Amino acid sequence: MKNKMVTVIQQSLSELMESEQFLPGLKDETRDRAFQSLVSILTTPNRVNKSFLRISLDNGKVVRIPAFRVQHNNTLGPYKGGIRFHESVNEDEVVNLAKLMTLKNALHDVPFGGGKGGVVINPREYSVKELNLICKKYVHYFSDTLGTEKDIPAPDIGTSEREMDWMMAEFKSIHPGETYRGSFTGKSVMNGGSLGRREATGKGVYYAYRYLLHDFIEENKNLLDNNKSNPFVKTAFEHRKRPLTIAVQGFGNVGSVAALEAHKCVYLQNKVVAVSDRNVTLYNSEGLDIPALINYSNQHEGDLPTTEKELEAEDIKATVQDRDGLLELDVDVLFLAALEDQIHQDNCKNIKARIIVEGANAPVTQDADKYLSNQGVLIIPDILANAGGVIVSYLEWIQGRETQFYKEEQVFKLLYDKMSATFKSVLPEFFNDPLPLRQNCYIHAVKKLSTILYRQGKLY
Ligand code: NAD
Repeated sequence: MKNKMVTVIQQSLSELMESEQFLPGLKDETRDRAFQSLVSILTTPNRVNKSFLRISLDNGKVVRIPAFRVQHNNTLGPYKGGIRFHESVNEDEVVNLAKLMTLKNALHDVPFGGGKGGVVINPREYSVKELNLICKKYVHYFSDTLGTEKDIPAPDIGTSEREMDWMMAEFKSIHPGETYRGSFTGKSVMNGGSLGRREATGKGVYYAYRYLLHDFIEENKNLLDNNKSNPFVKTAFEHRKRPLTIAVQGFGNVGSVAALEAHKCVYLQNKVVAVSDRNVTLYNSEGLDIPALINYSNQHEGDLPTTEKELEAEDIKATVQDRDGLLELDVDVLFLAALEDQIHQDNCKNIKARIIVEGANAPVTQDADKYLSNQGVLIIPDILANAGGVIVSYLEWIQGRETQFYKEEQVFKLLYDKMSATFKSVLPEFFNDPLPLRQNCYIHAVKKLSTILYRQGKLY
């Protein structure tokens, strides 16, 4: 992902610089200097905070755990981004995820900058008491850099509302008298979280797909009539004749909600034939019982059934298959909602889906992205599709500041309105432009950031 982010930012800037309408006040040498400034600002983080959290384990052993909080850019507002608990977390990964947050917020007009955090642990190997201590120490070590107007973390892989509740409480103890409800988002509803935050990313991911294949087509019949040879348009019209088959990788917060939205959608004919998690793939060519699988995973620490016996006990009809085989199934659509780098150079040639929706961040590597786009596969990119979480985090932040709380239907309406506004600004260009949708979104985000940096006199 490292080079991918730098490359896309540089490509977007080069593309923008070709137009005289972009920063028209700048000519010749000042224009070249502005370009160099923008490359350096947008491809490098403002701060990389690193600590080694000192934790006393239940067995009395004392360990030091590496932890990061990266603050990439705050041009649009306070830094914002999740904290990931995973054993493979490293500085490069956190830096690049922070960059993606800066661009994602710019694309969706969310008044936040980009940040990201990480702790190098497998949370399944720690007791609740130890995890609570790790959360408190994280806030303690980074306390000067965090805050409602400075840097606002949220959950990510391996963290949830429980960790955000603990962290906000610690922040409040360390900073008595300061506003604290907006210091963390993704908290439990009882503790000042927003209704709808848990489902927001998965709903937004599904909405991105539905919008392209249904709403946009309904609203733009003329535009599409002129683009009949476009592979996406062909697939989009195909669904009117038969249900589109869908496979969902990852059945956690994002994947399970996206799968449920697909399962119950009344606008499109979908058939969710496969889902996978860290252990297995479950497959049924007639369509899976998604509500029953969600029910099972809620009662089994987030895991899917792994044996025929467990499936039978729940009366769920499916076969158990190899976990990674899901990616290569003969389906129309793949939702990727697990981890980074899942489709790469070695498996991209075996992908049969014609539409890929990125629920996870960067699940398709740069090489694979290029190969699949050249093959006419439509990739709805992470930056466009998975912003539901940060959009509702923004709503949570507003509600925390106002101490006025919205109803769930208001939250989802505001979420869809915000995402629709982005789709409306990006999609028409996508149909008139040979660039992939991802590049289009990046150009949009980079243009916004560059224009604001220019107006603020930062390009020297
Ligand atoms: P989660 O921890 O709730 O779920 C992750 C799921 O992926 C689990 O079902 C897990 O078993 C599965 N998984 C792990 N390794 C796998 C593998 N190799 N193959 C198949 N499945 C595997 O996490 P989440 O919150 O659903 O996040 C999923 C992805 O979406 C992450 O990349 C995260 O960064 C991204 N994301 C999440 C949010 C959010 O609000 N939760 C927002 C934006 C992006």
